[in-house]
Amino acid sequence: MTKGKVIKHFELSWPEFEALSKKTNYAILPVGAIEQHGPHLPMGTDVIIGEYLAERLAMATGALLLHSLAYTPSFSCRYYPGTVRVSDETFASELVEIAESLFLHGIEIIYVYLSHLGAAAACKAAERKLLLTSEARLVNLLLPGYQEALQKFCQSKRWHPTYVHAEEYETSAILAIRPDLVDMGKAVKEYPEIDPMLGAISIPWTEFSKSGVIGDATVATAETGQAILDFIFEKSLEIIRLHQDSLKP
Ligand SMILES: [Zn+2]
Repeated sequence: MTKGKVIKHFELSWPEFEALSKKTNYAILPVGAIEQHGPHLPMGTDVIIGEYLAERLAMATGALLLHSLAYTPSFSCRYYPGTVRVSDETFASELVEIAESLFLHGIEIIYVYLSHLGAAAACKAAERKLLLTSEARLVNLLLPGYQEALQKFCQSKRWHPTYVHAEEYETSAILAIRPDLVDMGKAVKEYPEIDPMLGAISIPWTEFSKSGVIGDATVATAETGQAILDFIFEKSLEIIRLHQDSLKP
């Protein structure tokens, strides 16, 4: 594979795809969401972050870049206007069928590049289903290194050890990638009281977050965003390379 140019599934003709599939057997599939991200960020925030990183990874590795999936499970935010929720079952089936389709055409491994935590359970279910029923394989990458990156580069305190949403990190990332879509005049800081049952019970976020932001979006900067994105990119690249090396005979 020639490195340095992004090869997008969406843009290829079938003979081009056929030629490509003789040279590479893996692809990267960005999985985001279209869900509320506070009053200051676009609903496609996770898609923007995922596509940006997946494109850089495809460029660096020569992997085929699949078209991103945007309508995905978004259970927690489903009552905020505009959020689209697809069930875990539907989404897992879609992933299984995408993997099976592409396997037929020589793409044996798909790195599912997840920038949306809410889709993680369905991605796991799809990966497991394929292990039992098919030779096609999914490798789920949930923004590798992001926990470490947030600790290293964010100045605000985290609302919750698991959930980050529309706060300093995501706002900074969009300021770095698509500043035209951020309205910092509407950025807020919201640290709702944490219900001890959160996680044990799937509480809709509309019950505790008025703005949809959890954390502090007001301190976000493009510099922070770029530093976090670069860190996640390096970690992701390392993992894909390690995995590819592990497959070599
Ligand atoms: Zn998000």
